[in-house]
Amino acid sequence: MAARAKEMKAAGIDVISMSLGEPDMDTPEHIRRAAQEAIDNHWSHYGPVPGIPSLRAAVAAQHNSNHQSSITFTADDVLVSVGAKMAIYNAIQTGINPGDEVVIPVPSWVSYSEMVKLAGGKAVTVATTYEEDYCLTAEQLRAALTPKTRMIILCSPNNPTGSVYSPERLAELVAVLREFPEVIVLSDEIYSCLTYGCEALSMAAFPELADRLVIINGVSKAYAMTGYRVGWLLTKNKAFLAGCIRLQGQQLTCATMVAQKAAEAAMSGSQECVEQMRQVFAERRELICKLAAQIPGFKFREPKGAFYLFPDVSAIGTGDEVAERLLDQAHVAVVSGSAFGCSECIRLSYAISTAEIEEAMKRISAILAV
Ligand code: PMP
Repeated sequence: MAARAKEMKAAGIDVISMSLGEPDMDTPEHIRRAAQEAIDNHWSHYGPVPGIPSLRAAVAAQHNSNHQSSITFTADDVLVSVGAKMAIYNAIQTGINPGDEVVIPVPSWVSYSEMVKLAGGKAVTVATTYEEDYCLTAEQLRAALTPKTRMIILCSPNNPTGSVYSPERLAELVAVLREFPEVIVLSDEIYSCLTYGCEALSMAAFPELADRLVIINGVSKAYAMTGYRVGWLLTKNKAFLAGCIRLQGQQLTCATMVAQKAAEAAMSGSQECVEQMRQVFAERRELICKLAAQIPGFKFREPKGAFYLFPDVSAIGTGDEVAERLLDQAHVAVVSGSAFGCSECIRLSYAISTAEIEEAMKRISAILAV
């Protein structure tokens, strides 16, 4: 769909893209300046495999202060990688052996299942429901766990649903996991800064998970730095971390030094820029929810985090059909839910201007009213 949208744009058709998975804002000025200074100060050599010590310290400090963490992380618990994506891949490769099962609630970000397959594992997807605000229930988790389960991947705030797990629900899941101590909990918290009217509780709020918890985060979404490619994992499990570091040593050596210095400026500088961007997303979210509520056939939960709306369009057609129709007839590019393991839905990214949101929803409304 993205390729077709590009072709249409190249042919001069005015396509509005709601398929973006990244903030549309510029990287804040003080972060850009830090990158420029890093170049001028010759951060041009190989660095330590797990990351620049001062960045690792800044990451640990921010996680300890921001996320109601009852687990205290130190710089030694952090592995900086090339985006959260590489950190997730590394954790999966390190954590599972061929044949192991990994529980993944769906709809989910596309790459988890593929990465599990690349590691020779079996992705056990569990379909969450509209009624449960697309959050996994304790009963579903219990039913999915087997003696072969080695990992569960949670993502809150979620891409593509925008759901945020409540502290109560997380506590229920943790109660089940207590009976399965061999299961690693991979908690992707990349959207943790982008919540609206609630807070996303970090899994680090559960000290009983300390020896098997791997938290993922990065600078891509919070600081509009997707192209810098800096993300990380945090874990108190020393053996696990040592494995991840050995793997990264062979795969990467280290994340790009200039980008790490920019990430350090992001993590240790003023966090005002994050709040400013969050407010922009909050306004857009309000607008898109208001307009989407008027579209017949759109059934959705108000997203509590990230920057996506994930309506169920089954009253109109499959996600694939509706996405295609919107691109062909309304010239609005969205992503079919089938990409995320949910064929009844489509994902609309509101990381675009309010004017574009208004125009896109007007076009969608006009097409679907026919
Ligand atoms: N996790 C989720 C849920 C995401 O949506 C994304 C980016 N789309 C990532 C991880 C990867 O982020 P990064 O840019 O840090 O690799």
